[in-house]
Amino acid sequence: MKYDVRIENISAATMTSTESGYGLIDDAAVLVQGDKIGWVGKRSEAPAGTADKTVDGNGGLLTPGLIDCHTHLIYGGSRASEFEELLTGTSYTEILKRGGGILSTVRDTRNASLEELTKAANRRLSSLIKEGVTTVEIKTGYGLDFETERKIIQAMKNLEKQTDITVKKTFLGAHAVPREYEKKSDAYIELVCNKMIPAFAGDVDYADVFCESIAFSLPQTKRVFEAAQQHGLKIRVHAEQLSNMGAASLASEFGALSADHLEYIDEAGVRNMADRGTTAVLLPGAFYFLREKKIPPIDLFRRYSVPMAVSTDSNPGSSPCLSILLMLNMACTLFHLTPEEALQGVTINAVKALGLENECGTLEKGKTADMALFNVKSPAELAYTMGGNLCVKVWKAGKPVFSAAVE
Ligand SMILES: [Zn+2]
Repeated sequence: MKYDVRIENISAATMTSTESGYGLIDDAAVLVQGDKIGWVGKRSEAPAGTADKTVDGNGGLLTPGLIDCHTHLIYGGSRASEFEELLTGTSYTEILKRGGGILSTVRDTRNASLEELTKAANRRLSSLIKEGVTTVEIKTGYGLDFETERKIIQAMKNLEKQTDITVKKTFLGAHAVPREYEKKSDAYIELVCNKMIPAFAGDVDYADVFCESIAFSLPQTKRVFEAAQQHGLKIRVHAEQLSNMGAASLASEFGALSADHLEYIDEAGVRNMADRGTTAVLLPGAFYFLREKKIPPIDLFRRYSVPMAVSTDSNPGSSPCLSILLMLNMACTLFHLTPEEALQGVTINAVKALGLENECGTLEKGKTADMALFNVKSPAELAYTMGGNLCVKVWKAGKPVFSAAVE
């Protein structure tokens, strides 16, 4: 058998099942054939034969390419000046009154050209790729009108072409009530359901709703789920972030792939998620940045075997985060996940949140050859370290997409 690439002098965290933890193989070899993983195991047992190219891993750790399964990477402008104002005494109400907050991002996103949006998002995405990310989910939701939502979807397609990374696309028209629909949120929901979802369903993979007192009600959320399902879109939801609205249970009834945030979910909600196989996406960056106090009920997720994914929630308002590795650390320090659970959260469990479990998220024969090589001796170092980039090489579908200057 002939292979294209042989990676050796590594240990491999295969992440092949949540029971086996890291699924660690010491002194491993991985053989790549085309865009797929052809063989994984102990180097001493590697099949005889040749590979066109051998990569010396220098004793590092090979993991599956990481998956960032919840981001809002595409937006115009920046909210850094608001951050500064808040910290020098201006109240959030004052900022909102003069059109700040999410509505300022909506304004800046509407004003930005497609090229500007793509370029800014590409810069953010390249930070993630350099840390080993090979699949990213991105949501719309800073347009809130037909043309701008469409522009954001086009920017996602551009990003996919420019980076070769898999970009899974989520329509989040129901992210906030736009200014022109103030006090007419039902009318906006009708626009989302009757015009946007039918027009965009062919271009996106999922639909999402921000169900919260400051965004959309449970009946409005249900209305969007119904329209999404009619048009063949899989469902995910921003649920129970600031209060327990019952959105995770509702989404589970609709067979949602994931419910995300979940700080305020109760036991009945967790049980409903478990019954329907919905993944919990934990977003420690937003929890940290908003200085929240109530952490998601991790023990309940464990008890009911609800898979836990971890993601950056990269967005300008509540998680201006460009580091998936920092999220591993925060998932452990803030939410008390184990380093093993944190790494599962960006590999085997993150693909469950995206419905990609047959394609990537583990190192095993037949999966897409998405891989990241880290300059660490043990997997726990990935979650332990704060800052700095431990990643030295990234492959997407067998092709190198990042290589550190000094390995
Ligand atoms: Zn979000």
